[in-house]
Amino acid sequence: MIDNTLRLFFALPCPPEQAAAICAWRDDQAIDGRAVPQDNLHLTLAFLGAQPREHLDALLQMAATVHAEAFSLSLDRLTTIGKGFICLQPASTPPALLQLVEALSERLAALGVVLDCRPFLPHLTLSRQARSRAQQPAPDFTWHVDRFVLYRSVNTADGVRYDELGSWPLLP
Ligand code: ATP
Ligand code: MG
Repeated sequence: MIDNTLRLFFALPCPPEQAAAICAWRDDQAIDGRAVPQDNLHLTLAFLGAQPREHLDALLQMAATVHAEAFSLSLDRLTTIGKGFICLQPASTPPALLQLVEALSERLAALGVVLDCRPFLPHLTLSRQARSRAQQPAPDFTWHVDRFVLYRSVNTADGVRYDELGSWPLLP
């Protein structure tokens, strides 16, 4: 059967230098579970799930109307959330991050895209399917967030891959 949907989500891509530093630290730690590949590190802003291909243009146009400010993001807590997701989270969430999520959510609702009803929980997943919790403190991994992207999530024989379909700058 032909699948005419795309599995989509808006996210903050972790810049390559920061992703390398985070993975180097992670791989030195006794962190349980399946490590997320360095290229896949991201922070999800809004998960859209399966969307009809023909909605893509409207989503790209919508994202271009988001005018949100750039901000500094400090990921400084190692946490275990959900079913064995070991993550980095910000001890305090920058207001500009919440404003960006709000701007996207409002526009998605106007396009009829229904988001998960759970509240936004900023996190960058380091490892999945962990059976034990992470206990150790984390260094402060900070990056300057100056863009957000729309990803298509693709399942491959080598694991999930995220294709960047669009990228939009945040205001300096
Ligand atoms: P896989 O599910 O193939 O192991 P993945 O979880 O990285 O890999 P997706 O399930 O496509 O890939 O998810 C993409 C991103 O969206 C991930 O950050 C994931 O945590 C997040 N996500 C997935 N489902 C939801 C949901 N229902 N609500 C909020 N975020 C979600
Ligand atoms: Mg998933």
